[in-house]
Amino acid sequence: MSMGLLVQKFGGTAVGDPERIRAVADHIARTVNSGNQVVVVVSAMGKETDELLRLAEDVSSKRPGREMDMLITAGERKAMSLLCMALHDLGVEADSFTGSQAGFLTDTNHQNAKIVEVKPERIQMALSEGRVPVVGGSQGVSVDNDVTFLGRGGSDTTAVALAHAVKADACELYTDVTGVFTTDPRIVPSARLMTNVSFDELLEMTATGCPKPAMRSVEYARTHGVKLHIRSAFTWQEGTWVGEEKVEMEQAIVSAVTHDTSETKMTISGVPDKPGIAASVFRALSDVDVNVDMIVQNTSEDGVTDISFTVPHGDLEASMSIAENLVEDIGASGVSSDTEVARVTVIGAGMRSNPGVAASMFETLAENGINIQMISTSAIRISCMVAENQINEAVQALHETFGLAES
Ligand code: ASP
Ligand code: MG
Repeated sequence: MSMGLLVQKFGGTAVGDPERIRAVADHIARTVNSGNQVVVVVSAMGKETDELLRLAEDVSSKRPGREMDMLITAGERKAMSLLCMALHDLGVEADSFTGSQAGFLTDTNHQNAKIVEVKPERIQMALSEGRVPVVGGSQGVSVDNDVTFLGRGGSDTTAVALAHAVKADACELYTDVTGVFTTDPRIVPSARLMTNVSFDELLEMTATGCPKPAMRSVEYARTHGVKLHIRSAFTWQEGTWVGEEKVEMEQAIVSAVTHDTSETKMTISGVPDKPGIAASVFRALSDVDVNVDMIVQNTSEDGVTDISFTVPHGDLEASMSIAENLVEDIGASGVSSDTEVARVTVIGAGMRSNPGVAASMFETLAENGINIQMISTSAIRISCMVAENQINEAVQALHETFGLAES
């Protein structure tokens, strides 16, 4: 390990119990003792955030945003002070800071606040005094001076934003897996740990089902060029480096296969094929904050067509009631939904300059008797919607076709 200024972020399982907290403190101490400066970001212990959310539900039906944020951020506050105590036991001078103290200024959007600015003066002061700052993740203070929570998975974003603000050499995200894999190892045991992945590829991966790190943090890292290292707080081995795309001699055409079972397909049928109809459907959905993903419009016959699209499971009810209301307004014949769908995606920067990836993907699915219901693409990604009960087969077959397994 070369010497430098590092941000080290530890997820909930990494600090899940007293023994884990001491193990993490030991790792930080070793990093400091070998000559590095370290800024630590910590999540709430284990399932603490879920527990606090459950507690709030048991107490109140209203749950005002301001009080929810005050409650949830207590989880990280508990973890950060305990971690500092463990560091002191090892002879490392450390101070904990809330998001507010660490200089995280956010908007007023409780439970999902966005960072407006980071003013890390106290963090820099602590560093200059040779102390280790330990910052509570996923929190800040709003422009109205209230405590805010950055949302689920927000500690990753805290770490990346802090790394940018203090000009760290790298941001290490320590988690319970050894890094980013070519696909979900629970579906394909021979999935390979990726030693490198580009921001663009990882962003597409997190947008299509790869659970870690949080997508927002990858976006932030890409925008500001923060080098990421995703690695394990259990084995401490080298994990996956994330950075700018490298022009490699033998760049793989496809780097990863992801899948997502969290979306539902909706179809509005018998829609008049004329200007303004799609606009009114998707405007109505966006007005209630439904995030529509894939969209397919069939070729029209006798002036009518079908429009299919996907929405997150959680938004199905709201989306259905909006679509049902619209059916009459736009003169469509009906609306239906299918929750038994899943999306499989292949991702690779090498696709930009290599034709034929779509063809290989479709052939592979066909050979396995898997019907494609919808398709969407970007410059470095191809996604297909298939039946949910065939998703594992689809992932396994594509991982094999594109030669991603451990050799
Ligand atoms: N503890 C919060 C959560 O579970 C924030 C985080 O860990 O990123 O979502
Ligand atoms: Mg987390």
